[in-house]
Amino acid sequence: MIPLFPLPHFVYNKNIMALNLISDPTPPPKPMEPEPAEKKEQRKFIGVKFNCCGIYVRIYINKEGTLYEGRCPQCFRPVKFKVGEGGTDHRFFEAD
Ligand SMILES: [Zn+2]
Repeated sequence: MIPLFPLPHFVYNKNIMALNLISDPTPPPKPMEPEPAEKKEQRKFIGVKFNCCGIYVRIYINKEGTLYEGRCPQCFRPVKFKVGEGGTDHRFFEAD
């Protein structure tokens, strides 16, 4: 018979078995990461291209949720995009 796992694969196979042993008795604990990641994603942002310097950046919404406020990372030109009725669903803007 041909052996299922030739000798060079023995270590690899042993590692797989060790992994199975860890996950078998109890379900693996939930990682702690998802919560902060979710919070981060909840904060809205838009993409803004600063034509002054040709740089694209993300601008996040302010604390009140009324305004996207940011600056060009290179020349610090301020930009504001108001959130409100009659606004746009666009997620990408250009700032002159
Ligand atoms: Zn600029």
